[in-house]
Amino acid sequence: LFVVLEGGDGVGKSTQVRLLADRLQASGREVVLTREPGDTGVGARIRALLLDPAHPEMAPRTEALLYAADKAQHVAEVVRPALARGAVVVCDRYVDSMLAYQGAGRVLAADEVEQVARWATEELRPDLTVLLDLDPEEAVAAIAGKDRLEAESVEFHRRVRDGFTRLVARDPGRYLVLAARGSRAEIAEAVWERVSGELSV
Ligand code: C5P
Repeated sequence: LFVVLEGGDGVGKSTQVRLLADRLQASGREVVLTREPGDTGVGARIRALLLDPAHPEMAPRTEALLYAADKAQHVAEVVRPALARGAVVVCDRYVDSMLAYQGAGRVLAADEVEQVARWATEELRPDLTVLLDLDPEEAVAAIAGKDRLEAESVEFHRRVRDGFTRLVARDPGRYLVLAARGSRAEIAEAVWERVSGELSV
């Protein structure tokens, strides 16, 4: 099973990824907790470049291709081998982040970004994507001081949020959308309910 957590900055994604992985592990399954960008040797170098505040001049297409490169390495080196041996893969961000940030956020053509992302991942799609949804105004405190994205306007983060929402509308059955304002425990419970359901079918 391939489960992805998605959402804008500051929605508490990484915490939920950890809670889910812990719970899966406690149930006796092999779990691979991973994230994009940066969870391979090559990816760590790409992540450092992507998030370096010293490069505000990075062109949107350059950014998109670097995210795609990170994904290609990550899928080939980590995700596919883990799925092949029957592990549950829990991933912090995946293709939808690229569509929301580089597509909607940087205003690149959605279909073109999607083609690049599908090519990079050889069409590997998650079984379930959990979207943690939050008004960017409410997430602003968590974004402050982060990295290259810190300089982005609330409008940018709004486009990203709307980008995610449009993806859900296209294929609602593959998503669980949760309001990220709920308590950590409530959100974790809702995620667990859905994931454990997917595992027993
Ligand atoms: O999720 P994480 O905090 O590790 O992401 C690192 C940074 O990269 C964040 O600021 C996130 O918004 C940004 N990002 C992006 N485009 C993606 C994935 C992440 O701009 N496709």
